[in-house]
Amino acid sequence: MTTIRLNNTKTRKREDFVPIDPENVRLYLCGPTVYDRAHLGNSRNVLLFDVLFRLLKEVYGADHVTYVRNFTDVDDKINARAAETGREIGDVTAETIGWYHDDMDALGAQRPTHEPRATDHIPHMIAMIEDLIAKGHAYAADGHALFAVDSYAEYGALSGRSIDDMIAGARVEVAPYKRNPMDFVLWKPSDDGVPGWDSPWGYGRPGWHIECSAMSLELLGESFDIHGGGNDLQFPHHENEIAQSACAHPHGEFARYWVHNEMLQVEGKKMSKSLGNFFTVRDLLDQGVPGEVIRLVMLGTHYSKTMDWTETRKVEAEGTLRKWYGILHGHGFGPDLIAALKADGKWQADAEFLGVLANDLNTSGALSRLHVLSKGKTPVALAGFAHGLAMMGLVNDWAAIPQFDGGEAGAGVATAVAERVDALLADRAAARGAKDWARADEVRDILNAAGVQVTDVGGQATWAPGPDFDAAKLEGL
Ligand code: AMP
Ligand code: ZN
Repeated sequence: MTTIRLNNTKTRKREDFVPIDPENVRLYLCGPTVYDRAHLGNSRNVLLFDVLFRLLKEVYGADHVTYVRNFTDVDDKINARAAETGREIGDVTAETIGWYHDDMDALGAQRPTHEPRATDHIPHMIAMIEDLIAKGHAYAADGHALFAVDSYAEYGALSGRSIDDMIAGARVEVAPYKRNPMDFVLWKPSDDGVPGWDSPWGYGRPGWHIECSAMSLELLGESFDIHGGGNDLQFPHHENEIAQSACAHPHGEFARYWVHNEMLQVEGKKMSKSLGNFFTVRDLLDQGVPGEVIRLVMLGTHYSKTMDWTETRKVEAEGTLRKWYGILHGHGFGPDLIAALKADGKWQADAEFLGVLANDLNTSGALSRLHVLSKGKTPVALAGFAHGLAMMGLVNDWAAIPQFDGGEAGAGVATAVAERVDALLADRAAARGAKDWARADEVRDILNAAGVQVTDVGGQATWAPGPDFDAAKLEGL
């Protein structure tokens, strides 16, 4: 079985991934607050976790992975958006969830197993807060419930910050009802016109952090395998999730592995709504950039590195995909061929591709391996390439392999043509063996005229179609 290795933020080490239960590998990704379209940066961990989800399914089996990503549908930004536009909150969140699905679907991201909405789990949050109060980790004050940071000695361990650093670095809200300025809100009162629920602390709504602790507990249990989100969520959001879950369930482990992605930047600054330096996934799609191109650019940089979206990368990705899809089309890849490859036991991941990807989700390394695999000359030789494209989410429907506008067959070579080149090379080898130099030169000239690039290594000839490849010219003999 392939060993997956992950760079675990919790231990700051790259570790072998050992699931709690290989029959049910469980992961949680903090999802969007639904008041507006996702910007391109927001798609980065969606795509990373999508690749992780696919990889885990490949290794542990498609029915043995549970992936949860929440929708934060109660939040002051949502309330503000509804107030600004004079719309119902429920309309704003429903519309935004629809957009999110459309946009992430267009990027080829598979839907998670569960997509809980915070507002469907309010009783679970209330129960967890009551439990924290009963255990002495939280207190009620002035219509609020607050987590007492002093009650949890390991607070700050994930992000490696001291309490002083945290106070200095975060916009810690000082409030008269807090015992310690670091204490964070579990529940807060709601005025009229703002969503609220009855609770032991009065009519109000939950803080943000408690929702992920309550929903992951409900859907994944008190110990699960992998938790993720952007680096920017390590503190305070993930520290607070850990504090809540560890204190409510001291015998559980909460998440064993934490995977955090770096930021998508614009001119050296994090792309963000608040800085206004963002464009949305939908903006790109509307400009005619195919979802697969966006996906390939995003997966071209390892998640642990910051990255920029650049025009050059987009053009390169487009060229690569045009070539790759041309190869698939040229070799007749489609549902029938895939079914035939499956029947012959040939529909398998390339071991090197899988090994590279499993090594801390090295998507850029895996793409380099696909470039090598794309040079196969027959459907069977290309099976690992096609399988790899599917695992990277670059082909999601074998009945409709994308073909970009204006794209020609690219470097794709039909089987009959590949067989013809192989026959010519065999002919050339035989002529050389028989010292029939005139014949050997004749064959070479045909290959040159057709734009076939031949490389002789250790007596073995390999070939690739060159930029001026013209199959018609192979027929000259
Ligand atoms: P937000 O809507 O800002 O709460 O972010 C939702 C998700 O997107 C979180 O997991 C963030 O870490 C992530 N995120 C926000 N901005 C960026 C960015 N510029 N690059 C990568 N991830 C981001
Ligand atoms: Zn969360």
